[in-house]
Amino acid sequence: MRFLSLGADDDIGASSHFLQLDNGTGIVLDAGADPSRDGPASVPDYDQIRRAFSERGGAGNPVDHALVTHAHHDHFGTLPLLVEEFPHAKVHMTPATHQLLEFLLPASARLQKRRQEEGSTEHDPLFSEDDLELQSSLYREQDLRAPFDTGGAQAADPNAEAEFFDAGHILGSAGVLLRFSEDGDERRVFYSSDTNTTAQTIIPGGDYPDEPVDVLVMETTGGADPEAEQTNRALEEERFCAALQRTMQRGGAALVPVFVMGRAQEVLALIDRFKRRGDLDEDVPVYTAGSMRAIADLYDKTRETTPRLNPTFRVFGVDQKKLPYGRDKLRRTLEGPAIHVVSSGMMFGQTLSNRLARDLVGNPDGGIFRVGYAVEDSPARRLTEAAQNGRAVTLHEEAGLQEIQADVERFRLSGHSDRQQLLNLAERLDPAKVVLVHGSDEAKDWMATHLRERLPGAEVLRPAQGEVIEA
Ligand SMILES: [Zn+2]
Ligand SMILES: [Zn+2]
Repeated sequence: MRFLSLGADDDIGASSHFLQLDNGTGIVLDAGADPSRDGPASVPDYDQIRRAFSERGGAGNPVDHALVTHAHHDHFGTLPLLVEEFPHAKVHMTPATHQLLEFLLPASARLQKRRQEEGSTEHDPLFSEDDLELQSSLYREQDLRAPFDTGGAQAADPNAEAEFFDAGHILGSAGVLLRFSEDGDERRVFYSSDTNTTAQTIIPGGDYPDEPVDVLVMETTGGADPEAEQTNRALEEERFCAALQRTMQRGGAALVPVFVMGRAQEVLALIDRFKRRGDLDEDVPVYTAGSMRAIADLYDKTRETTPRLNPTFRVFGVDQKKLPYGRDKLRRTLEGPAIHVVSSGMMFGQTLSNRLARDLVGNPDGGIFRVGYAVEDSPARRLTEAAQNGRAVTLHEEAGLQEIQADVERFRLSGHSDRQQLLNLAERLDPAKVVLVHGSDEAKDWMATHLRERLPGAEVLRPAQGEVIEA
């Protein structure tokens, strides 16, 4: 089997990997977009597949299957381009991921079009709503723990199957176990995708194969975060609750920048719990916006059919106010006490969280509370680092350098396993080879060093972007 990493390899980047089995069957794992880049630069170089595997050229069709593990942009955001490039590929995902994509892909097409029209990007949209309509018949729903065929159309020996396992990361998220035979041996490859071995507030921890695997392709998002393993979710939840309480007592607004998909719903579930316990006043308004509301609806519709800690909990059980349009109205919502749960989690330039943060950062009554991952040099990361070092911060060039007066804190309420949990998972799956993906160089360094200690018999691989390795 050969493995080719298609997305950027120096941080979380765009997730997309290609596997070619010895019998020629080609399987793409994820088709993400790079969240920190725009336009064509955010797209994995899908043409690399053809260039690297041209020996199967004849039919010009090296991809038989594409598996989408979850509805995060860095895993599905360029799926329409992959399908356009390889129109014969069958696309597999869980039913919940399918429902989310039916909503999120058209929303992405509309956003790209709007950004071009208003001049906030110079790039043409990567795909249109019409393109999506033509493609959606190719999507196949596969349930968790239900093996499905991933054999190649042209392969002499088309015995390959895949199975989705709950990844415990967001609604619909899955890890993938591939089973196929090579040289008369059965081989097992597990792709963790983004994974969380422990329970969050809405969804339970992940579920993993019971049998050992030959190759583990593992995310490393938490690899460079030493603090995450020194705390635990229950403590972080209480710290978050106390920070919100202090802000409300000052009469300020608390901004919680979140990814609309996953983190937002988990944070709303926590706020609901705090309100029910009487730790937060029930009348404190909780502002949300945009697609977050439609996603909450999908979380609620699937609460009986997808893994949940409490199937009776509804995200819309938490009273939410829609953020008003217009700069002045928006500013007035910051007069507080109020809680704003808005996108984006990394606080990129044109997003609501960035706009609100610019208005809030100089206010000593306010709070800006991060709850998820942010890549290096994103405004969210810069804000945390500046606050720790007592420096001013540039959140947006329009606002320039701003003094930090608000309470700026970070809470480990991530949807990812911490690095010790990743090591434990690797130990449990006992692979002969571990392929490290989806993390910063620093994160991969740490993971590689510690995997070599914990699994001395295993080979640890760190493929560079575009590098084909034997796995
Ligand atoms: Zn994810
Ligand atoms: Zn990811």
